[in-house]
Amino acid sequence: MFTSLSDRLTETFRNLRTKGRLSESDVNRTVRDIRLALLDADVALPVVKAFTTSVRDRALGSEVSEALNPAQQVVKIVNEELVGILGGETRGIRFAKQPPTVIMLAGLQGSGKTTLAGKLGHWLKEQGHTPLLVAADLQRPNAVTQLEVVGQRAGVPVFAPERGNTAGHDVVGGAVEGTRSHGDPVAVSRAGIEQARARQHDVVIVDTAGRLAVDADLMQQAADIRAAIQPDEVLFVIDAMIGQAAVETAEAFLEGVDLTGVVLSKLDGDARGGAALSVASVTGRPIMFASTGEGVKDFEVFHPDRMASRILD
Ligand code: GDP
Repeated sequence: MFTSLSDRLTETFRNLRTKGRLSESDVNRTVRDIRLALLDADVALPVVKAFTTSVRDRALGSEVSEALNPAQQVVKIVNEELVGILGGETRGIRFAKQPPTVIMLAGLQGSGKTTLAGKLGHWLKEQGHTPLLVAADLQRPNAVTQLEVVGQRAGVPVFAPERGNTAGHDVVGGAVEGTRSHGDPVAVSRAGIEQARARQHDVVIVDTAGRLAVDADLMQQAADIRAAIQPDEVLFVIDAMIGQAAVETAEAFLEGVDLTGVVLSKLDGDARGGAALSVASVTGRPIMFASTGEGVKDFEVFHPDRMASRILD
């Protein structure tokens, strides 16, 4: 991902590097090239506009004209602006003062939530935490089983509604495997947190249902779960491969459930990636993690500065 954006920007700066002092037309040409590279990579238009305006203003200002090496100074400005749109500082999970810390995952179906639950659980476990995964996606027939498989691979326990029994768990109501469930995701989420308390899990990761497109029912369900469990983090998982739709989907979830952070998934794909890069800027929420494959370890903490350097390398 980002290879074509990266190549285009490198090419732009290569032209610049041969120059000594920069004229206004050098700056304008460079800014135009950056603008085209960002647009071609699918970065959202308002983000491109703000980005290029800022780079241009700074590049024409004293910051560059008084620098010993103006070309390098422009690269530095672009780097800083990229870090800015990617969310600035690295932001870790905000753990609750009183455990358990509750992390809710939201996003469209297929975005990578269930896979992420396993990865995040595995990573937290490696940090010495004792996570519990909660299967509150009762919409898809196989979602509960899928989370159980993911949990097993990650070595993290899963709280799931009992199946094959419509009375189900004490509190929960049943999710009958292989049928469309009528279990109550709010009750499952609450019961999962109760279980975490009782068994001293210090982090709870709640996997919620998604649909293929944003719809009012899905959003209401996610909002109801959020209101009931008061999560410390609501992470929006976005498939970096979905292109321009990433931005509007993120905006819909921001409005519908309010998000605290973003996870980019499928960064191992070959999409242009710019839309996903716009999500932090458009929502004002930091990208906290990235998913880079189907395996439980294909996961990284997202560092905006490292990503910017990777793109500009
Ligand atoms: P959910 O519907 O949001 O829970 O999405 P899933 O976790 O079920 O993921 C949907 C599909 O994407 C599955 O086939 C996953 O194996 C795959 N997947 C999830 N994350 C990644 C990733 O980072 N890279 C790749 N290549 N595939 C992924």
